[in-house]
Amino acid sequence: MQYVAGDTPVTCPCCKHDQFDKDYRQLNSRGATFFGLDWANKEAAILICQNCSYIMWFMKSPKSQ
Ligand SMILES: [Zn+2]
Repeated sequence: MQYVAGDTPVTCPCCKHDQFDKDYRQLNSRGATFFGLDWANKEAAILICQNCSYIMWFMKSPKSQ
């Protein structure tokens, strides 16, 4: 699947591939709430390059094309 982040089609910075799998990950890590980081429990979208498996993280979920 191809994705758009903002207005820009996403390409892999590692291998320039443009096909990705999308998944979601919680951002909370141990001790984060202690420091009052509000984003710590939010969910981030990740795109995994289908060619080289490079992972990109997004706070706003990229749209599929
Ligand atoms: Zn790649």
